[in-house]
Amino acid sequence: MSTFHVYENYRGDQSKAKIHFASCQWCNFGEGIHPEAGDENGRWHGPFNTFEAADDAAYETGRPVKKCKKCKPS
Ligand SMILES: [Zn+2]
Repeated sequence: MSTFHVYENYRGDQSKAKIHFASCQWCNFGEGIHPEAGDENGRWHGPFNTFEAADDAAYETGRPVKKCKKCKPS
């Protein structure tokens, strides 16, 4: 069973909440692609056990909700 993570992007021009499978290379189980760098642009939420839970959390950020085009979570 896959889990899901949501990346909340704080940047004004890219404000969004994007849903990923945990195994997605961009998600890397909530670590992102540069886990050692820290990230001022946003943060990860999760893991979530269901897509619905991730979707709810994404909407709760108040940002536009997107799904990763790479891992296509559902
Ligand atoms: Zn993804």
